[in-house]
Amino acid sequence: MKGLTLDITNLTILLAGIYIHIPFCKQACHYCDFHFSTSRNVFGSLVNCIKEELKLRRDSLVNIPVTTVYFGGGTPSLLSASEIDSILNTIGSHYDLEQSAEITLEANPDDLTREYLHQLVRTGVNRLSIGIQSFQPPVLSWMNRVHSTEQASTCLKTAQGVGFENISVDLIYGIPIPEYDIETDLMKVLEFQPQHISAYNLTIESATVLGTRLRKGLLEEIPEEVAADSFLMVMDRLKSKGYLHYEISNFALPGKESRHNLGYWNGKPYLGIGPSAHSFDGENRQYNLANNSGYIKSIQNGYPSFEREELTAEQRINEMIMLGLRTSEGVQLYLQHGEFSWDLEKQNPKQLEYLVSNHFALIRENRLILTDRGKLIADRIAADLFIETS
Ligand code: SF4
Repeated sequence: MKGLTLDITNLTILLAGIYIHIPFCKQACHYCDFHFSTSRNVFGSLVNCIKEELKLRRDSLVNIPVTTVYFGGGTPSLLSASEIDSILNTIGSHYDLEQSAEITLEANPDDLTREYLHQLVRTGVNRLSIGIQSFQPPVLSWMNRVHSTEQASTCLKTAQGVGFENISVDLIYGIPIPEYDIETDLMKVLEFQPQHISAYNLTIESATVLGTRLRKGLLEEIPEEVAADSFLMVMDRLKSKGYLHYEISNFALPGKESRHNLGYWNGKPYLGIGPSAHSFDGENRQYNLANNSGYIKSIQNGYPSFEREELTAEQRINEMIMLGLRTSEGVQLYLQHGEFSWDLEKQNPKQLEYLVSNHFALIRENRLILTDRGKLIADRIAADLFIETS
């Protein structure tokens, strides 16, 4: 079976990213609905299959420079440095990996010992995305995070000490417990001045421990206006410290935006390797099977199992609206996909007038850009501008 193969005639800028999914974690965080397993029985076989999948799908990105590699999960910091090295060598041998590629490893604080960090530097990993989420002990334990407050601080100091100059910290705010204090986390993270901060409002997904507690009435979500106040505080605080708010949940010091994630938001192609990984060829999407043993079996049979979603031009334009509005660049007013074009100003004159006159958005250089007030309801604004698809 053949997977996504990039049709380079449709792409103006030929750059791509590779995403590698490492579907293992030490324990399950109570809010998480990503694909992972806490059993590591098949860890070694799965790493081998990831390398095999990279070889099998090399034709997907022929002559397309790979500018970013992103190890996500799960918990990629469970990989040994030599496993990372061998995955990167496989990419280097079969793809046109740029010398200056951004290579990110998502990591949990408890894995980042000084020795491991030194080894990581030698593999070529040049960006760490550390899942700290909170520095407050009651919050960490409520989330069932595996690390301690002390490990969160220590790993940041150590990573900076061994020479990592591109570190991102993940925080989750909007925690519905009385002990939670957003200020504490913001002040603490700013002590370290990481180059990048991703701040996510807690969303409670149904297939999680928190989802079950919510259904049983053991938990209440925080009111919308409290979540909005928290978001405004995060934006104000980080912007006042020099961080650019370049995507709804992402803040970076100038020049330190995540190149890999910018690729997603700008509609660049990417190849997703590993169970549950998604791929995009500039036209269509593909989703690998989200099951570790099923994935291994399929690779052993010659090709990863996947589902493919053929996107219509209207669906692609809707994606452009949704993703564009999330970024500080906004979305172009005139959108085109293949032969199909869509002019937001002509199609939605009343909505645009409403958004601008009520300071939810502004129009600059033929782009619609959300204001801070608009970012609070970005999903609703995007949905109102979508092309209706049946
Ligand atoms: S470590 Fe990350 S992927 Fe694993 S359970 Fe926690 S949030 Fe989910």
